[in-house]
Amino acid sequence: MNEFSIIKRFFASTHLRSDVNLGIGDDAALVTPPPGHSLAITTDTLVAGVHFAAETPPHAIGYKSLAVNLSDLAAMGATPAWITLALTLPEPNVAWLEAFSAGLFQLAEKYQVSLIGGDTTRGPLAITIQAIGFTPIGYAITRGKAVPGDAIFVTGCLGDAGLGLSTPAHRDKLYYPEPRIDWGIALRDIATAAIDISDGLAADLTHILNSSHVGANINTSFIPLSSTLQTLPRDKAIDLALTSGDDYELCFTVPAAKKALLDEYNKLSPITCIGEITATPGLIIVDEDGNEWHGKSSGYQHF
Ligand code: ADP
Ligand code: MG
Repeated sequence: MNEFSIIKRFFASTHLRSDVNLGIGDDAALVTPPPGHSLAITTDTLVAGVHFAAETPPHAIGYKSLAVNLSDLAAMGATPAWITLALTLPEPNVAWLEAFSAGLFQLAEKYQVSLIGGDTTRGPLAITIQAIGFTPIGYAITRGKAVPGDAIFVTGCLGDAGLGLSTPAHRDKLYYPEPRIDWGIALRDIATAAIDISDGLAADLTHILNSSHVGANINTSFIPLSSTLQTLPRDKAIDLALTSGDDYELCFTVPAAKKALLDEYNKLSPITCIGEITATPGLIIVDEDGNEWHGKSSGYQHF
């Protein structure tokens, strides 16, 4: 199979959004963003052996390469629309490509996202997706506007993806994280800051604190743990929730006056208040007895 037959067979979808004027097949794609909106543009690379283990099923690789990008759009409050895919493959393996593209399109179809272009090259396995979405001008959520007194929330449960790294029986969340697109859109009018949790709660919340020039107090007794994590020793579960990455839940801040607006969205995935933004810089984590938490509290860093 050559580059062009791979693209035609696995990636050239016939069904495109109506705002795509020209998809795969020319030198660039053409799209028409809705009037009055800003584009939100993000990209993430998954490298074999670094971001996923060699044994990861190709369906999960396809799904997750898109999920991590949609998660970044969710954290901005953006509606996802278009993606490009730069794929570097050691060899054109039909079974691998079939499963990979099925995983990718499963999530793309769920959020009505169109694949509009990309690049296909030979080399060590790596996947780069660029995702483009939009928000009404002035309504994107950044990391930088949390203020003292805001409540800190997270979506879903934390630590399950981290558990999956060491426990093959619990790989669902590691392989198939759910980008919290619906929450991102709901929070446009409510949240002062948001981030998606890719490197662990402690590290990612710290990014909000640094960008917003504030601090935070959180309490480990409020951290949402799945029924699986609740069966682990408490310290181990909390450590996973605070420091392991790959959950792709959202962490966001809400002024007290806007907390009631969250009730309108109680049909979306559950959210939990875990603490409060403070004026004093730094993240303070206390346990159920009020003692400061001393875990290995830093997220994954490449360098
Ligand atoms: P060019 O040489 O002009 O950069 P290419 O030959 O690389 O174009 O690609 C041909 C067309 O196929 C382009 O429209 C490109 O965006 C698209 N394309 C290439 N690889 C992929 C891929 N993996 N997924 C989706 N579209 C792709
Ligand atoms: Mg090219």
